[in-house]
Formats: sequence, C-alpha cells, structure tokens
Amino acid sequence: MWCKDCKIETLDKTCPVCGSETIEDIPTEVYYCTHCHTPVIKRINDAQKDICPLCQEKMKYLTADLRPVFPEERRLLELLPP
Ligand SMILES: [Zn+2]
Ligand SMILES: [Zn+2]
Repeated sequence: MWCKDCKIETLDKTCPVCGSETIEDIPTEVYYCTHCHTPVIKRINDAQKDICPLCQEKMKYLTADLRPVFPEERRLLELLPP
C-alpha cells in the first residue's frame, strides 16, 4: 500500500501518518535511458529510480505514468458508389 500524500509505503489501508486512504500499487514513473535507447519503469520509492538497470547511467525522466495508448478501432466505411 502507498500513501501518495506522504510518499511512504505502508501495510494499512489508511496511512499511519496522515490518516488518508492508501492506494494498492506504488505509483511508477517512466524513465528513458538515452544510452540503451530503452524506456524503464521504476517505482517512485526506488532510491535509484533514475539509474538505468542495464548500464547504470543516469536516465532521463519521461512521464509519471505509462498508460498504453491503444489507437481507437475505427471502422472504415467504404462508401462505394452503387
Ligand atoms: Zn500519509
Ligand atoms: Zn542504459
């Protein structure tokens, strides 16, 4: 569990520090290693979250949350003349 206000991990459904509701998953952040040309997802409480696990270089911060973007399935209507 994770309190996004205090940015701490806890086992309780409510934060022992501020008393607000905790969320189940620790939020992740996406970094990009310009060395390996690969995006890396790290938990925000990772002490070395900006360090590339492959080459140990410092990575570039990309975004807070990576949600896969699926292109909308649009049906193309073929309007053929009769
Ligand atoms: Zn808290
Ligand atoms: Zn790297």
